[in-house]
Amino acid sequence: MRVYYDRDADVNLIKGKNVAIFGYGSQGHAHANNLKDSGCENVIVALRPGSGSIPKAEAAGFQVMTPGEAAAWADLAMVLTPDEGQADLWLDDLRDNMRQGTAIAFAHGLSIHFNLIEPRDDMDVFMIAPKGPGHTVRSEYVRGAGVPCLVAVEQNASGNALEIGLSYSSAIGGGRAGTIETTFREECETDLFGEQTVLCGGVCELMRAGFEILVEAGYAPEMAYFECMHEMKLIVDLIYEGGIANMNYSVSNTAEYGEYISGPRVIDARVKDNMRQVLARIQSGEFAAQWMLENKVNQASFKAMRRRSSEHLSEDVGEKLRAMMPWIAEGRLVDKAKN
Ligand code: NAD
Ligand code: MG
Ligand code: MG
Repeated sequence: MRVYYDRDADVNLIKGKNVAIFGYGSQGHAHANNLKDSGCENVIVALRPGSGSIPKAEAAGFQVMTPGEAAAWADLAMVLTPDEGQADLWLDDLRDNMRQGTAIAFAHGLSIHFNLIEPRDDMDVFMIAPKGPGHTVRSEYVRGAGVPCLVAVEQNASGNALEIGLSYSSAIGGGRAGTIETTFREECETDLFGEQTVLCGGVCELMRAGFEILVEAGYAPEMAYFECMHEMKLIVDLIYEGGIANMNYSVSNTAEYGEYISGPRVIDARVKDNMRQVLARIQSGEFAAQWMLENKVNQASFKAMRRRSSEHLSEDVGEKLRAMMPWIAEGRLVDKAKN
């Protein structure tokens, strides 16, 4: 596996280009600000008229163009709008407005890998996918670090797509942590698998299940929140820093012994089977198709699931407990007024 660093990239390549960042959400605000702070002077943000993101981008000092104007202006269009709307963005604003020989880039492989977008032959098509939330892409860059990125080239019309991608990755901080070369397929399928089974789906269901079981058994919800949710970060920080062995060095021998005895009872062969089925649904395109159909009905069940999730008892309990720990809110990663 090839990993590239800042020394492998020519950051001047990206500085010489008109870069339009489509979307100013989690990833968009991070890419735009990191590029600017890396000395890229020709970076604008593309947003639809009336978008709630316009004041945030303008307050950060960016010129905002409509998607159509930006497409005509750009040498590189970085698509950081929600995956579910990217096919329409391509057909409505990008395909017929982008100049010959320009480039389109993504932070996730879904639209290209599952053929939701069929790009023009004259264009470079590549991906720079940070392996972390957008707010962390920004916060790590600001403190002089970076989030690892994946780079993949789908179409190399210019003969220079990888070099442009590496230059971009360095400018957003990826070259500090490492830019790993992959394919759209590998990024897309592993990213969906990771977020569904482990990072978002798996971890949240696991924490909620533990919380519910303690509450159902008559323990105080506050205890359940601290034990099954709040402490997750403290444990994950130790793993992030030095792997599972580092975490085990810090917890008690009792905790470590319990981990070996009870962990495999909870995450048993059935759970692994379920994970294999999720992977198969991702690989077959079934998940992508279901998600796109969901968007044809105005996200009816997505919105219902989001509402139910936000009404879970643990959300209320957590809010009250976090209010007693004001340091958690200091220097927040997510500030909805700005990003
Ligand atoms: P987001 O929902 O946080 O932000 C979307 C932004 O796009 C908003 O500013 C919105 O106003 C704008 N927008 C929506 N439709 C638009 C259009 N047609 N034209 C212009 N602007 C439009 O999105 P996000 O979570 O940052 O995801 C963006 C991309 O990055 C996706 O491909 C996603 O898979 C990928 N990605 C996200 C993360 C993450 O941390 N959120 C991590 C890795 C990859
Ligand atoms: Mg993802
Ligand atoms: Mg303990």
